[in-house]
Amino acid sequence: MAKWSINDSAKIYNIDNWGAELFSINKKGNVCVHPSPNSKYSIDLKVLVDDLIKRKIKPPILLRFMNVLEGRIASIARAFRNAIQDNNYPAKYQTFYPIKVNQQRQVVEAIANFGKKYNIGLEVGSKPELVAAISMSSGSKLPILCNGYKDTEFIETVLYATRVGYDITIVVEKLFELEKIIELAKKTGINPKLGIRVKLSSRGIGKWSTSGGDDAKFGLRISEIIAAIDMLQKNDLLDCVKLLHFHVGSQITKIDKIKNALIEGTRIYVEMKRLGVNLDFLDIGGGLGVDYDGSKSSYFSSVNYSMDEYANDVIYQVKNICDEAGVPCPNIISESGRATVAHYSLLVTNVLNHNTQVSSTDFEAILSEPEKLSPTVKKLVDIYKSIDRHSLREDYHDTIQLIQESVSLFNLGYLNMNERANAEWICSKIIRKINSIVEKLKPIPDELQNFQLSLRQTYFANFSLFQSVPDSWAIDQLFPIVPIQRLDEKPDVLASIADITCDSDGEITSFVGENGRTKALPLHKIDTGEEYFIGFFLIGAYQEILGDMHNLFGDTNAVHISFNKKTNYRIDSVITGDATWESLKYVQYDSHEILKRVRNNLEQDVALQKVSIEESSHFLELLDKTLQSYTYLGE
Ligand SMILES: *Cc1c(COP(=O)(O)O)cnc(C)c1O
Repeated sequence: MAKWSINDSAKIYNIDNWGAELFSINKKGNVCVHPSPNSKYSIDLKVLVDDLIKRKIKPPILLRFMNVLEGRIASIARAFRNAIQDNNYPAKYQTFYPIKVNQQRQVVEAIANFGKKYNIGLEVGSKPELVAAISMSSGSKLPILCNGYKDTEFIETVLYATRVGYDITIVVEKLFELEKIIELAKKTGINPKLGIRVKLSSRGIGKWSTSGGDDAKFGLRISEIIAAIDMLQKNDLLDCVKLLHFHVGSQITKIDKIKNALIEGTRIYVEMKRLGVNLDFLDIGGGLGVDYDGSKSSYFSSVNYSMDEYANDVIYQVKNICDEAGVPCPNIISESGRATVAHYSLLVTNVLNHNTQVSSTDFEAILSEPEKLSPTVKKLVDIYKSIDRHSLREDYHDTIQLIQESVSLFNLGYLNMNERANAEWICSKIIRKINSIVEKLKPIPDELQNFQLSLRQTYFANFSLFQSVPDSWAIDQLFPIVPIQRLDEKPDVLASIADITCDSDGEITSFVGENGRTKALPLHKIDTGEEYFIGFFLIGAYQEILGDMHNLFGDTNAVHISFNKKTNYRIDSVITGDATWESLKYVQYDSHEILKRVRNNLEQDVALQKVSIEESSHFLELLDKTLQSYTYLGE
């Protein structure tokens, strides 16, 4: 058999297909991150994590690579620049980053700074997001788009922001908002910059398809647009409308869904121009997807198109329809959030232990003394001894039946604890023996592939699914998970990944594999005594803010890293994760109060001589230390 190579690992984890030329495996067998697609430079993740641990930064650690973020902004801009050139498109393209996808100050700051040369803007959907965007836009005067429902305070703030020099467009989502806007514009004498969001009848696809379609939550129907134009005209404000917006959902997996929306949206733009609305911009919303599993399919963790195809389709369709109608082409805006930030962050954590098979010498003894065994266990031993490739399927089914029988007999009182343990042990030996035969069959027959699942072991990793990859739980989204070391060795365990919450939902049983989705993740045996780290990739979009505090596991440590030619990497900042007292504070516990209460209680027992002073103070010390420490597991 040929020796296992890093290429074999790249294949089984499908890295080259989801990695967007940003992730690869180096000669040492470690995963590395490239500062830009296909760059000859790279940061070795295993070296980085070892160095972070030397700095006393403990896993789980969220790693944020701002260079990667910048690279993605540049890629999207390049795709549109090329499409504009190739199609002789007579207007411009601009990205507005929707900050709901990741509002972290440093992320938005990086986008604002780096994006300046691409004329990037920010899109917001709430008052807190508006304030964040205004703070980022101060000085640089980044343009801002406001979507979402808006109240009087929101609208008034935007109007005065416009008066003092900010470039903010209010996108009208509902007709009743427009009445408020008109009223406030009259009252303040400030003319707003307006956009109109239309409710297309075209839908997206998949989990977010209801963002579009006639029953969508946001946007005006066609008849409402006509009414809006009428209202604005009567109030002499129609010239304020500069932008038409639609958004048919996130992670649109099929290019033809995008085309349908574009055709309908551009037709509405053309007709509004004909009605005398002075539109300059067509804002096509988000939806540009990320190929999380690398399958290039219309499965919902993937997309069946590339970024270049997306840009080209947008430009081509819009131009085609405008040319046909003899209407000037609009400047195009896209609100690509997921595609901008998904790649920039990843979580690395250690595997704590796994369900190793017990094999004490007592168990081995049962093989040599079958006459002492209960009939059920004896039958299992016979199967184990006689198994061969011709009897596989039958033996497997018999084994399953016998193990069920052993449980029934135990429940009825005919088997004792030792006998049931024997049955369990011999059963797992049979399954491993079957597997050693199955592995040599090529291809593995379908019904036996499912059998391999019964070999799946649980690896416990030091993280909370609910905090770090909530969409894996909420909507079964796939994220690539890869061990960051030993990729020059064959991983010979099939595993599922369980987190450390006390929730049985806190387990991942679907993974990115060679042929799309697989039900088990190949991992290495952990017997070297060395820490074994796994990475969760492409988690920069939505996960950081949707994460919750199930079991009071708080924010993880986060480290911002930039590429540096001399030292390979540089730590730009470290954001310490929540300590136990901080997690408790979210649910209204005060750490001083806790210590005081426990101390009072202990003093009563000291007074009654139930507890010694030393024991009491040692316990208080431990409690205090726990309050100060990370919510995740240490040594
Ligand atoms: C959420 C949202 C986006 C972002 O969509 P992505 O698919 O992440 O790019 C863009 N525009 C609006 C109006 C949104 O609500």
